[in-house]
Amino acid sequence: MITLNLDILEDTLPPGICADIGTACDIPGQVPVFWRAALDRLQTHPRFVSPELNPDLVRRGLCGEQVEIDVYLCSRRSLDAILGYPGALGVHLLTTPDTDIFEDRSSSAARHRVLVCSDRDEFLALTADLAAGDADPQKHLPEYLASYLATVFHEIAHALIFIENSAMLVPGAIEVLSNNGQIDHDCFDCSTCYGIRPLTIDGQEVWAENLDQAVAMMETHTEELAFHLMGFALDGSSSPFLFPAAMGATEEIDRIVAQNASRAAPD
Ligand SMILES: [Zn+2]
Repeated sequence: MITLNLDILEDTLPPGICADIGTACDIPGQVPVFWRAALDRLQTHPRFVSPELNPDLVRRGLCGEQVEIDVYLCSRRSLDAILGYPGALGVHLLTTPDTDIFEDRSSSAARHRVLVCSDRDEFLALTADLAAGDADPQKHLPEYLASYLATVFHEIAHALIFIENSAMLVPGAIEVLSNNGQIDHDCFDCSTCYGIRPLTIDGQEVWAENLDQAVAMMETHTEELAFHLMGFALDGSSSPFLFPAAMGATEEIDRIVAQNASRAAPD
């Protein structure tokens, strides 16, 4: 059983850390409500109720029984400061940020964590980019919303794959077992499935032949899995169509879609 926690990162960090990395909480209040409903539903997916754990580790008793994924929404400034480079939409954190903001006191994460940027201006800019030049933005609005919302599921999918390959152990525990020679695989392998199990891509099971291929295949598989998980989780009180309202951006989204529609209309 995998439990999905949800927090706004800046609300959980010690104030001193927020001051150091110049963060501010700028996430509209209804956004966590939207995501909590989606994650509640996602937790009922079979892969979260009965994860497909690495049988080798389970046989050897090297496994956890219950695991949590900490999902953090955060500001653009926070994510850039934590990662040390600009522009990532989200991340599944295997290693500890230099500032050790989670106080892991180890180079590898002591919990399963994903961070996703949740910024109103960025949401609007990305949607406007997709709508620009589109002949029928109104029709394609569901796709714009899906492409934005998929980041949360993409990062959770990364965490799910790691959890299954590590038999629920956290990155820090895998690092210790790997360094001690107790297991043949490390955090990279657990993240990519490299040497552990084949990945299903376009319905076919494929083994990666080298590290570069493992990374590329893992990303393709993760994106497919993310859209599957999103289709499962986003309905009812977390329909994609409710997200602009949660962001307090209904009028702007309507304007973006209408502007481009009128531009694309024949004279
Ligand atoms: Zn990825």
